[in-house]
Amino acid sequence: MCIMYTVSEKNTMKKKYQKMKYTVLVICVVVIAWSFSRYRQMTIAQVAVYASMQNASCSTKVVAIQTFGEINSEELYPLTELFSELYGIDVVFLENIAIPERAYLKEKKQCDLAVLNDVLAARKKNVKCLRLIGFVDKDATDGKLEYLLGMASLSREVATISLTRLRERYYHRKQNALLFRERLFKLTLHEYAHTFFLLHCTNNCLMQFTPQIEKFDGKPLGFCWLCLRNFTTLYQAY
Ligand SMILES: [Zn+2]
Ligand SMILES: [Zn+2]
Repeated sequence: MCIMYTVSEKNTMKKKYQKMKYTVLVICVVVIAWSFSRYRQMTIAQVAVYASMQNASCSTKVVAIQTFGEINSEELYPLTELFSELYGIDVVFLENIAIPERAYLKEKKQCDLAVLNDVLAARKKNVKCLRLIGFVDKDATDGKLEYLLGMASLSREVATISLTRLRERYYHRKQNALLFRERLFKLTLHEYAHTFFLLHCTNNCLMQFTPQIEKFDGKPLGFCWLCLRNFTTLYQAY
């Protein structure tokens, strides 16, 4: 069968073809520009996480808790429920270890959380867990700041939390178990999210940097929509 085209038909087809070519080209340029702008919007830390996701192999859905020195572990048991209800994750308590001498600053009566994070990072190599979180019942610092409530080591997937300033007793007020638990949940989730490379946020959000206890109490026990979106994306890769 022979198909004959007139000159004008051929011209119309040629124009249509060229129009299609330009449309495809424009779509490609838009997609490339969009991907590039998305990439540019990421922080360095997020880029690192996205890169590490390529070979993420950790399927151990366990958060391990390491207590240091004198501490009432029972106060931490509600964390088991928190992690299992929120993320379907089991919590295991490792055997308590003494606060290493080099981590305790005698003159300041504070623990250096950077040193405790070093201890945890070394210990995590032998413990099968998604994240390792340390707890200490001493006031804390990183050696530079006046005090710290908690400290995460992002790339090493560990964090340490000090319970001391979560207690009303520290502020010479009447003990309040419910408030203590709320603060414990807030601080643990905040540091936990840091270990997935979620950074500080200025919205009304759990990821606000709030060293002062009044501001800490004022922030919600939940992420703003932006952090929730980022955390969900980062978290699902594990
Ligand atoms: Zn923080
Ligand atoms: Zn936020």
